[in-house]
Amino acid sequence: MAASKSLKRSVPSDPTRIEKVELHQHVDGSIPVPLIWQLMKRHGLNPVKTITQMERLLTLQRREEGTLIRYLDKFHYPLWITQFYENITRVVEAIVEEAYQNHVRLLELRYSPIIHTYAGLTLRQTISAALSGINRAKARYPIQAGLIVIAMRQHGPHIAKILARSAVSESQQFHARTGVIGFDVAGAERGNPPLLFKEAYTIAGTGGLGLTIHAGEDEGPFAIWQAIDELGVTRIGHGCSAVQDKVLLKRLARDKILIECCITSNYQTGAVKRGCRHPIFTFLEHGIPVAICTDNTTVSNTDQNRENKQLVRRLSLSHLVSIHKTARAYSFIRPGIRAGKAAI
Ligand SMILES: [Zn+2]
Repeated sequence: MAASKSLKRSVPSDPTRIEKVELHQHVDGSIPVPLIWQLMKRHGLNPVKTITQMERLLTLQRREEGTLIRYLDKFHYPLWITQFYENITRVVEAIVEEAYQNHVRLLELRYSPIIHTYAGLTLRQTISAALSGINRAKARYPIQAGLIVIAMRQHGPHIAKILARSAVSESQQFHARTGVIGFDVAGAERGNPPLLFKEAYTIAGTGGLGLTIHAGEDEGPFAIWQAIDELGVTRIGHGCSAVQDKVLLKRLARDKILIECCITSNYQTGAVKRGCRHPIFTFLEHGIPVAICTDNTTVSNTDQNRENKQLVRRLSLSHLVSIHKTARAYSFIRPGIRAGKAAI
């Protein structure tokens, strides 16, 4: 059989059938609503009477769109139930399962351990609970998955350093099964520039973790410049404001920095105005690598299939396949254990 014929046949005719790579998905914003509802009811923590009312609280409504801060408000309710080890494991397992059902075959989940310690869990326990959930799901489904540890900007550079050390101590290189694979900084972007977190990134990078950061979502191109020049990241979360700076676009293309694009989320937070073309197309035109990501499947009421379907009007299915292939090459998940790598 000719190679071109076999390649043609290997491209599915439906975007939902494409094998997908998810590099940017938050645990707290992606817990399936029925599971949150079930756990809230079990613990007597449901703030409303019905699951329909609960769904409105968990999912961004159209009237709530336009600012990152309002989007971040949606993360409060899930935290009521993700303070307990078994619940964390359970929700992570459910998220991986749901992703697999949407044809995701490589999944990087991200999670801020420190906001799951309010009921007494240690940092180490919260990380371990999430890893257990991933491992449970991996035992049932053929999917590659790993965990990125997030430091929240609003907690400041000192806590970020503590989290970077915790992330390194739980990193993939020390675990025969799933370990922490990367480090990220997220949360309210304005007033908390990337440079503040330089030491945390040095710790995480020296410890062998992959480096990404939320930047250029609610701030200008300078935040992306700083992230690349000062933190040494190989990936940028969102990066929307890069389109305002032609020199930056050239730099991203030259250094092959991947942008984790979250289309639905970007319109909801106001990072991209409704009616405007999404920056992913500019990135592609400049030869900048991109990944198609959901950000938060529950808050944004989306999934990998929906995100890919949004793109089929402008991109061919084979182009989508190649985007996911590129994203796979940028994954922080390493095959096997990285024996012999020094860590601090
Ligand atoms: Zn995000």
